[in-house]
Amino acid sequence: TQTMLTASQRLDSIGQLAGGIAHDSNNLLSIILGNLELAALKVTDPEAREMIEDAQAAATSGADLNQRLLGFARKQNLAPVRLQVGAHVLGTVRLLERTIREDVRIVAKIERNIWDIVADPSELTNALVNLAVNARDAMSDGGFLHIEARNYKSESNGGQKDRSADRTDYVEIAVTDTGAGMPADVLEKAFDPFFTTKEQGKGTGLGLSSVYGFAEQSSGFIKIDSQVGEGTTVRIYLPRALEADKPKTTTQISTEILAA
Ligand code: ADP
Ligand code: MG
Repeated sequence: TQTMLTASQRLDSIGQLAGGIAHDSNNLLSIILGNLELAALKVTDPEAREMIEDAQAAATSGADLNQRLLGFARKQNLAPVRLQVGAHVLGTVRLLERTIREDVRIVAKIERNIWDIVADPSELTNALVNLAVNARDAMSDGGFLHIEARNYKSESNGGQKDRSADRTDYVEIAVTDTGAGMPADVLEKAFDPFFTTKEQGKGTGLGLSSVYGFAEQSSGFIKIDSQVGEGTTVRIYLPRALEADKPKTTTQISTEILAA
């Protein structure tokens, strides 16, 4: 019989494995890249130089992939702090506006009087960027990317066994696209590390699995709703900050805003 692992246990072991491989293979790649650089200095034949350049390009994208794997494995070092959701989400939206394709219109909406949350700020940014990149990839002809944050109260026994039974207050951050949507067989595997439907070089399959890991390790959770031909909504739920979670700063930033 097969041993059943939960999604998060699967992530743990795959994360450790991937991190170890990425680390060792990075060392090897730096030797390869160093030698290629020296070889390039000695080679004058144009055809041979081109071969060296191709090899350098391949080794460099290998090193890029390793960087991502290391990022995925480095999940034990979360540094959760009390966060103002509005300011944080809008900061990320500004970043996205500069980097995402022009035919993707970003619309952000933050509920008035939204609760503070406790989460690692750079991992939250990372998660939102991952979701936005997926949304962009799903909208080859352009479309809308909505990012909406609101307070969310779960029933205390929502049936989610990995959710703390006495925690009910979360902030929901929903990322919605008007893209291709996900068929059932894709949806089923979407959180699996290395699962991708994208062509080689376009996707690593580590986006949703790391967002899943981030939500879980933040004592939150995640949901996907998707309709083929309509679009996809990924919702991340992060725990509301308690009175005891002291703010790091007293600066009040208006969170009323929206739109782009
Ligand atoms: P990657 O983006 O590298 O393929 P992810 O883990 O981010 O890996 O996503 C896994 C797969 O889930 C994608 O290849 C795609 O098929 C599907 N997917 C994720 N997000 C969306 C989305 N917003 N719309 C449609 N399909 C999606
Ligand atoms: Mg992705």
